[in-house]
Amino acid sequence: MKPFARKLLAWYAKNKRALPWRATRDPYRIWLAEILLQQTRVEAVIPYYEKFLARFPDVFALADAPLDDVLKTWEGAGYYARARNLHRAAKLVAHERGGNFPRTVDALLELPGVGRYTAGAVASIAFNVNTPVVDGNVARVVCRVYGIREDPKARATQEQLWKIAADLLPKGHAREFNQALMELGATICIPKNPRCLLCPVQKTCVARTLGLQNVLPAKRAKKELPHKIIAAGVIYKRGNILIQQRLSKGLLGGLWEFPGGKLKVNESLEQCVAREVREELGIEIRVGEKIIAVEHAYSHFSITLHAFRCEFVSGRVKLSSAQRFKWVRPRELEQYAFPAANKKVIAALVK
Ligand code: SF4
Repeated sequence: MKPFARKLLAWYAKNKRALPWRATRDPYRIWLAEILLQQTRVEAVIPYYEKFLARFPDVFALADAPLDDVLKTWEGAGYYARARNLHRAAKLVAHERGGNFPRTVDALLELPGVGRYTAGAVASIAFNVNTPVVDGNVARVVCRVYGIREDPKARATQEQLWKIAADLLPKGHAREFNQALMELGATICIPKNPRCLLCPVQKTCVARTLGLQNVLPAKRAKKELPHKIIAAGVIYKRGNILIQQRLSKGLLGGLWEFPGGKLKVNESLEQCVAREVREELGIEIRVGEKIIAVEHAYSHFSITLHAFRCEFVSGRVKLSSAQRFKWVRPRELEQYAFPAANKKVIAALVK
């Protein structure tokens, strides 16, 4: 075994954090953890991981659950396409493979929502397949150790990183080695001011030798996120509130929401709510007082959502951009999965 791998594995054996998904080799649990970790920090993932497993302890429980239940359990974890893909993939594994997870990278890649990283992670961590992984942590470590100055997100650099990760991997130790490399990036070779004095591979690190730890990996100039102003209506009729379920695809697909949309030029927020409700539901409403204005940032844009209390006036609901609607009692709202910004509106309503 090369000295890099030997030192890293010895360090990992002593220093790894006790994370719930490290106590298992069950591919279902490892797959779930990897999907949750894709866009969420470890500390934030743990409660979602535990809640999800308590509700869906195995792939059959997940496959047989209605999507609404899956989304409700996922609520708050964000990036809901992940939950929809988990559900689709669980159905495939449960119904077409008798509950047996694919064991190779190629077969794992056929599951919805599983990309190169997740396939490598599940294959190596659950089945110890000799295959590398490159996530943000690994990319940072490798760029520093090898003194790679190109943008790690660029396609050519990505290929270089995957190749180096494969070369470094000691055969027969993929499970521990891949996790060790990620752990080093998460706890020692951190983005700002890495803790080089504690690093097991400091002697072979180019960035450390040249004092480039805070320069590498190369950073992309941050683009300013577009901002949207949204107005939405909490529409009452005889004490019930109207909610609609978004179409299954796209951002926040399948979640429930209060109807509304983007403010147009020369339009007041109140006019926007009335227009959106007319367009989306074909009904007339009276727009009343503002309940709350909520700020929320998504990955590619941010919003300010202005929510208004409204009264139903006339018309028959005819949906144009949602799959279902319901009139529900205010206390029933918590049974449905809503996006984070709508949750804040519900919290304000409860107050
Ligand atoms: S020596 Fe420092 S920069 Fe190099 S891999 Fe270790 S922690 Fe990262």
